[in-house]
Amino acid sequence: MGEYRKYSHWLYNITLYKVLTRDWQKAYSVIRTSLLTLEKLILLSILFLLQTAWKIINLPTDSFRSQTYKKKGEFDFMKLEYIFPKDIEKAKAEKWPLVIPVGTIEYHGPHCSFGCDTLVAYGLLERLEKEKNIIVAPPIWYSPSSYAVAGPEKGTIHVESDVFEQYIYNILKSLLYGGWRNIYLLIHHQYEQENLLPMTLSCMKAAKKLTFEYLEDTRGKGWWGDNSNKEFYDQLDGQDNPWNWITVLPCMSKEVQNATGYDHAGKWECSILSALYPETVVKEYIKDSDEWFIQDAIESSTEIGENMVSLCLEDLKNKIK
Ligand SMILES: [Zn+2]
Repeated sequence: MGEYRKYSHWLYNITLYKVLTRDWQKAYSVIRTSLLTLEKLILLSILFLLQTAWKIINLPTDSFRSQTYKKKGEFDFMKLEYIFPKDIEKAKAEKWPLVIPVGTIEYHGPHCSFGCDTLVAYGLLERLEKEKNIIVAPPIWYSPSSYAVAGPEKGTIHVESDVFEQYIYNILKSLLYGGWRNIYLLIHHQYEQENLLPMTLSCMKAAKKLTFEYLEDTRGKGWWGDNSNKEFYDQLDGQDNPWNWITVLPCMSKEVQNATGYDHAGKWECSILSALYPETVVKEYIKDSDEWFIQDAIESSTEIGENMVSLCLEDLKNKIK
């Protein structure tokens, strides 16, 4: 501000001097130069204001947070890692489904990302969460991928199924003892025609083993045979049926697979993945390999994928209750 005052004082003096000496041309020139400087300043300020306004207008209507974590009722976010204790207590009390996406880090050819399987499960849940009250738990990425498709030199990370079972068992144990009674493991890996292969079997075994241990621990040994339990079968369809506490589900049921198709890194898997996360499939890279199982991925499309997604969601909406 001091500089500005000094400048205006100087401008006033020099202009007054030129006027007094009747040097009109110089006086006009001094005023004109200073006005031009002022004009430039005003113009720059207007440009700056316009630019700022443009930025504000073009901000996404949803902030990053609300885009990722939809607000519903009293809940702020629907992903377990983001919600608060009060939200967890409400979800447990109302028996909201808590769904854990389970997949792999596995070689899927040069054109398809390693996280494909986990991303399919996660992406479907991100869509389902927009339509239904569910809590999406952080995904499980490392698992019994197996080296059936390719060895570790191609990027597959395999975890022994017994180790994996223990890992799943421990996660579920915390959840069950924490009061969750409506847990789902949503799997996308080696689930053709709902065949029971190592990953699915590990999840199922962990779930059932834990349920039996929990019942014995909390209700005591002989709980089933105790006379206080004589209503057991009448209550099986009730909300607190222990056999429904933890459910293992495929992303694509046998019916959905038959209605569309199912493969590894080919036309069908690349379609569903690219519908959910378009940047994870690059069809131009298919030509980098002659592996038999990837060649028909050239026929994949997000349109086919969207159809697969909607069939999966329709099915999952009925099964995840
Ligand atoms: Zn896959």
